[in-house]
Amino acid sequence: MNLEPKPELEAFRQEVAEFLDTAPTDVIREAGRKTTSVFAPFDATMAWQKILNGKGWAAPEWPVEHGGTGWSAEERFVFAEEYCKRNLPPLLPNCLKMIGPLIIDLGTEEQKARYLPRILAGDDYWTQGYSEPEAGSDLASLTCSAVADGDDYIINGSKTWTTLAHRANRMFMLVRTSSEGRKQQGITFLLLDRVDYPGMEIRPIVGLDGFPEQCEVFFDDVRVPQSGRVGAENEGWTVAKHLLKYERGSSSQAPWLYRFVRMIREAAATRTSPFGGTLAQDPVFQRELGELEADVASVEAVEKLAVSGHPLAHDLAFPSFNKTVGTELIQRLTSLMARVSGLEGLSLQLQALTVGGGTAPLGDGFDLIAMPYYLNSRAASIYAGTNEVQRDLIARSLMSR
Ligand SMILES: Cc1cc2nc3c(=O)[nH]c(=O)nc-3n(C[C@H](O)[C@H](O)[C@H](O)COP(=O)(O)OP(=O)(O)OC[C@H]3O[C@@H](n4cnc5c(N)ncnc54)[C@H](O)[C@@H]3O)c2cc1C
Repeated sequence: MNLEPKPELEAFRQEVAEFLDTAPTDVIREAGRKTTSVFAPFDATMAWQKILNGKGWAAPEWPVEHGGTGWSAEERFVFAEEYCKRNLPPLLPNCLKMIGPLIIDLGTEEQKARYLPRILAGDDYWTQGYSEPEAGSDLASLTCSAVADGDDYIINGSKTWTTLAHRANRMFMLVRTSSEGRKQQGITFLLLDRVDYPGMEIRPIVGLDGFPEQCEVFFDDVRVPQSGRVGAENEGWTVAKHLLKYERGSSSQAPWLYRFVRMIREAAATRTSPFGGTLAQDPVFQRELGELEADVASVEAVEKLAVSGHPLAHDLAFPSFNKTVGTELIQRLTSLMARVSGLEGLSLQLQALTVGGGTAPLGDGFDLIAMPYYLNSRAASIYAGTNEVQRDLIARSLMSR
């Protein structure tokens, strides 16, 4: 398998580079520099999505007939590489990478026509209402109920960890519509047109990094139309599993991981080692960053195999493998970031981190983001299914061969 750069991709790389060098506004670049989570600063990132959509590049993974680019997997990888090199804010994943592809695969024609163009254009933001206080890894235990009433459902219960629900205008969620049979059998998948239905309340949760990124959502006799259902009533478990494949599996983590390596290397060149010289010259530091970079290179090799058509891309365990390895590397990389920043990074500078806030940071841009990134990324091995559960899935897939 040849993993060398292909000359025929170079013209494409040039075209992408030229656009990404010129299209983003200063505010969008600032949002990229101030990204400290998978969820980049909301307003600037949605504005950037609109610009990308104007070029037809908001959703490279989508089929062409729904607004995708028609790029090959290798072209998509090149795009991700050029994107991450420029430190641009990652587009928010819930819409383009999760609910959009799900509606394309399983939605009705009406749902496709109604939602897909607005998702692409960044006009809607969808929050994900799966988890509940007593239903996380064991999602099938969920109790938030929906009872049919005429053309509507009436929802009661609560959801938790619903990321950016306070910024969303729509929500996709799982509800219990039956308690008969196995607990997986009584679940239904719903698209909610609004997050301000009467009886619905959203309460933000402030995270370790000081930002309210997640929320709790409460439902008290909330009436929603049944036309928002995806799939049949009580068959939402299959729909939810279909979506998880998109949530966990991304074929281009390496470009994103290299972005951390570059940030750390640049910062280390400007800091002094306690043993003399710069930190970048320190052999202990070099070894640690070298080991991390070697692990990122391994991820890159696997991902390049996958995009060049290797069967592993279709292996059931691949999304779980990708999620586990990628999130653990992010945690190791952000841990090194926090240590490189040291005392300079100890103060959480929420005002300076606000895009367009105009407050200058103490220290430099690296010190500004190192600690919040470290703190935020502690959750990476929990969300989208904990890494322990992913390891179970990988083992089950391997042992069933
Ligand atoms: C930052 C963040 C953002 C999130 N965003 C969203 C969102 O937008 N929408 C949404 O619906 N949910 C979201 N979640 C919820 C997330 O999916 C759950 O936290 C996750 O599934 C784990 O569930 P839990 O927190 O209930 O932990 P539990 O399921 O209670 O797990 C506790 C511990 O037990 C372990 N464990 C549980 N079962 C097994 C098993 N079978 N084998 C081995 N170990 C096991 C777990 O790995 C973990 O270490 C988010 C969570 C976080 C932290």
